[in-house]
Amino acid sequence: MAIRFIEDLPIEGKRTFIRVDFNVPLSAGRITDDTRVQAALPTIRHAVARGARVILASHLGRPKGKVVEDLRLEPVGARLAELLELDVIAADDCIGDGVRKLANDLRDGQLLLLENLRFHPQETSCESVFAEKLASLADVYVNDAFGTAHRAHASTFGMVSHVAEKGVGYLMRKELKFLGDTLAKPLRPFVAILGGAKVSDKMGVISSLLTKADAVLVGGAMAYTFLQARGQQVGSSLVETDKLRKAGEILKMAEERGVPLVLPQDHVVAPDFDSQTGSVCGLDIAPGKMGLDIGPQTLADFKERLTSARTVFWNGPMGVFEKEAFAQGTLGVARALAESNAISIVGGGDSAAAINLSGVADKISHISTGGGASLEFVEGKKLPGIAALED
Ligand code: ADP
Ligand code: MG
Repeated sequence: MAIRFIEDLPIEGKRTFIRVDFNVPLSAGRITDDTRVQAALPTIRHAVARGARVILASHLGRPKGKVVEDLRLEPVGARLAELLELDVIAADDCIGDGVRKLANDLRDGQLLLLENLRFHPQETSCESVFAEKLASLADVYVNDAFGTAHRAHASTFGMVSHVAEKGVGYLMRKELKFLGDTLAKPLRPFVAILGGAKVSDKMGVISSLLTKADAVLVGGAMAYTFLQARGQQVGSSLVETDKLRKAGEILKMAEERGVPLVLPQDHVVAPDFDSQTGSVCGLDIAPGKMGLDIGPQTLADFKERLTSARTVFWNGPMGVFEKEAFAQGTLGVARALAESNAISIVGGGDSAAAINLSGVADKISHISTGGGASLEFVEGKKLPGIAALED
């Protein structure tokens, strides 16, 4: 269904509410990484250039429905003003008479930043009166916050039907293009690589990818649930025992479909999480040892399969990459992705961090800004924040 783009919305002179993702990491009142503020600039600049009366709204952290002084958006507003070289009017709330007056008094091209949406519990509960109050500030609604699109909150879902004109910004459009259009009709071979810690969160996406991809490569902690389901010895590696049956079903489904679901054939193991060094072992892991990274043969095999791919989707590190001794698998996959000519799409916070750690971010076609949202989207679920924008 058609979703409109900000370039096609009548925003000139209109109160244009842009739901952005300004959920930045803060330390002692300072922004430690302004990537998300930078990422919102194209949409904001576009709106300002066209003389929209821009109203920006975001959540920040988890204030749980109360005013938390340390989670005010003021430092974000200051950073934004610096980057844009424009004044940003900061409101002390996101609804109420004062805020309405600020919104109505905006002149063309001026910017208003609302206070943290999650200071009100009604934001996450998507309470309808609160949603209508937000909507009453705006003539046009633009969503550019993909990371919260899988949540039916007042600012991502509840308010949208109450605003006459709606659409997406530049960031959201890019997410829809890569995670949606590209993966719906992938250039083949299409190879998916999945890893990370929680197999339970990713069962749905693996099943779904088995119907779309030409091969699914599995590493990281989640590989051990699959290996155990296949009857391998996994030592004391992380296994989600309540998911063994489901893992067995997925292995069977892969076999029936003839889609290779490739598990590690060797591992880097150590006695526990706190170990600083590891050793390589073959397919089976001895009692008392934990698999903390894929082994060199597995990495070589995964790289080989990536070489011929024309589309790659990656989510989840191959090991405990936060520690050097267990980072080789993840960094190796990141480099292989950077070197390949395939369209490369990366989702997941830790996977994106691993890409940045490898210094290859500029060689990746798309690094999604959404963790949970990107997985749910790839799984084929309808995201409330996107469904709300469909005409
Ligand atoms: P993403 O954020 O990219 O979706 P996840 O949050 O699912 O990824 O998983 C990342 C975490 O998984 C990392 O903290 C990493 O240390 C952990 N991890 C990966 N492999 C293993 C393993 N073999 N054993 C334990 N933890 C692992
Ligand atoms: Mg994570």
